[in-house]
Amino acid sequence: MHLLNISQSDYDQIRREAEQAYPHECCGILLGTMDAASRTITATVPCDNMSHEAPERRYSIDPQQVIAAMKLARTRGENIIGFYHSHPGHPAQYSATDLAEAHWMDCSYVIISVEEGRAMDTTAFVLRGSEDNQRFEPEEIQILPAHALGKIEI
Ligand SMILES: [Zn+2]
Repeated sequence: MHLLNISQSDYDQIRREAEQAYPHECCGILLGTMDAASRTITATVPCDNMSHEAPERRYSIDPQQVIAAMKLARTRGENIIGFYHSHPGHPAQYSATDLAEAHWMDCSYVIISVEEGRAMDTTAFVLRGSEDNQRFEPEEIQILPAHALGKIEI
């Protein structure tokens, strides 16, 4: 089983963003470190949902924000280790579109379901396989106190 470590404050933060974006999808980038078995989030970067046609069931992150997050990660000696988005009115299960549009191998994709403006389930999946044969494998979210993660504040 893959493991995703996140601090209580980052966990609360992305769920709050999911509630604030309702009925639209929120989206953002996860910075941190990874090894073979786990990923550790040390910072979250909220992004604008650029999907203007259907922001209540699609999300799109501006490539400029991805580049900026990548640079920020580098200055911290870290990497982009995943992405998060919300599912307003839908379960925290990845959609066919989520899988088709995921390209960051070995990164975590976190999904927060929101019902009537309230964050419900939070799930995570790791993208595995190869570019033309990718799959999501479930990941266990482990919430830790910030000091246990050696967290660097942005
Ligand atoms: Zn989705």
